[in-house]
Amino acid sequence: MVWQFDPIKTHNCIMSKPMNSYPDSWYVASSPMLAEQPPASGDLTYDVCVVGGGYAGLSCALHLAKSGKSVAVLEAERVGWGASGRNGGHVGTGQRADQHSLEKWYGNATAKELWRLGLEAVDLVSNLVEENGIDCELGRTNIHFAAKKSHAEELRDEVDHLRAAYNYDQISGVESPSLEELTSGVGFHYGVVDHGARHLHPLKYCLGLAKAVMTAGASVFEKSRVKDIDIKRDHAVVSTDNAIIKAQKVVLVCNGYLGKLFPPIASSIMPINNFIVATEPLDEATANRINPLNASLSDSLFVINYWKLSEDRRLIFGGGETYSDKFPESITDFVRPKLLAIYPELSNVRLDYGWGGTLAITRNRMPDLGVHKGVVYYAQGFSGHGVPTATMAGKLIATAIDAGCDDFDLMSGLKTLKFPGGPLLRRPSLVAGMLFYSLRDRLGR
Ligand SMILES: Cc1cc2nc3c(=O)[nH]c(=O)nc-3n(C[C@H](O)[C@H](O)[C@H](O)COP(=O)(O)OP(=O)(O)OC[C@H]3O[C@@H](n4cnc5c(N)ncnc54)[C@H](O)[C@@H]3O)c2cc1C
Repeated sequence: MVWQFDPIKTHNCIMSKPMNSYPDSWYVASSPMLAEQPPASGDLTYDVCVVGGGYAGLSCALHLAKSGKSVAVLEAERVGWGASGRNGGHVGTGQRADQHSLEKWYGNATAKELWRLGLEAVDLVSNLVEENGIDCELGRTNIHFAAKKSHAEELRDEVDHLRAAYNYDQISGVESPSLEELTSGVGFHYGVVDHGARHLHPLKYCLGLAKAVMTAGASVFEKSRVKDIDIKRDHAVVSTDNAIIKAQKVVLVCNGYLGKLFPPIASSIMPINNFIVATEPLDEATANRINPLNASLSDSLFVINYWKLSEDRRLIFGGGETYSDKFPESITDFVRPKLLAIYPELSNVRLDYGWGGTLAITRNRMPDLGVHKGVVYYAQGFSGHGVPTATMAGKLIATAIDAGCDDFDLMSGLKTLKFPGGPLLRRPSLVAGMLFYSLRDRLGR
């Protein structure tokens, strides 16, 4: 058995709806859930078998089905059960790594292509939402705050660079006396307002994609955990407990939940856990003070804090990570101090929900895309930027399988660094590194 969390363990959450096998969260409580799809059974044949029902898998299946391929999505639990149904809903521009770093690693021309692809990923999400009539509270604008004086200088430089070298005029910087027009939060030294960014309700978006996948004619099988992928010369045989699926291509998009399923790609990523709370609904005046632009907001700490308002004015606040295979006993107690450090005014506000999820990071925070033996396509390691980039990765894989795709070649050509120690021993060195940087977050603001 792979290492994994208790799939339906709940953490100090109010149960307001039947569980539907999803871990309880504000998102589950506020989404119109889909009927459970039956597990795969018997001997089946498809052009493409997609393993994993998050944004990457569903986007891939949708694009493949639209190009006329027969497609099966195999999801171990329920669609959107993983990070795609639990995240902060921020749809940021660019890549998770900043442009200066991308220029240093890959050169200016490639960095420009990656920036373009990042913008196209945001457009792709918006277009999928619109074309498929997905009601997922799509909003615009992200504000990123410098949580330390030294970070303000770096962010100023980044804004200038994006405006000058990338002609990106959706972004602007706000100096500290005017920050209070952006939020009542404390401890910030500078703000970056990016009107090109979007935000949304992540589970509603994911379930909307799943619905579109089924409407386009693809099969979605839930409670269908893949146990084995046997690669033949020009096809693969994928096994679950009750089914054997023959497919010309397999798309492996399990991200932080990959476990031991496919060792050849495991040491490029590291699963980490991140946590979110939802407050009780705030009164209008408080909500307006916290977030007058109704943007998504985040800060510059290594263990990033990120937040936004829900449609019913709850503050959905994410912060805090763990690097073991366990979640904190009380997620609300774990996240509360991070929330109150920014908004002390919320000290008497109830936290109604607390949940966590697992995402995969890579060493340089760039996604890891590729193809193994010409049969297994994979995408993983979106490193906290996966709402747009996992959606885009699914499209790129679909296009690569259908007709070849320059942007897939671009992404799969990026050098990925393995975690030292390989799949088995990578954890101790990562934990040491992550703890070092998260400790630095607490020094000198
Ligand atoms: C708490 C949290 C907050 C985040 N906030 C943001 C944010 O605000 N903005 C942003 O851009 N990104 C954010 N992220 C990251 C983002 O959610 C992910 O990058 C993205 O959802 C990854 O999508 P995916 O399809 O690759 O993986 P997932 O959504 O994790 O889907 C993988 C699926 O594979 C399934 N699976 C695993 N093994 C098997 C198997 N053997 N057989 C069949 N199925 C299997 C799992 O059940 C799962 O449903 C956050 C992540 C977390 C956890």
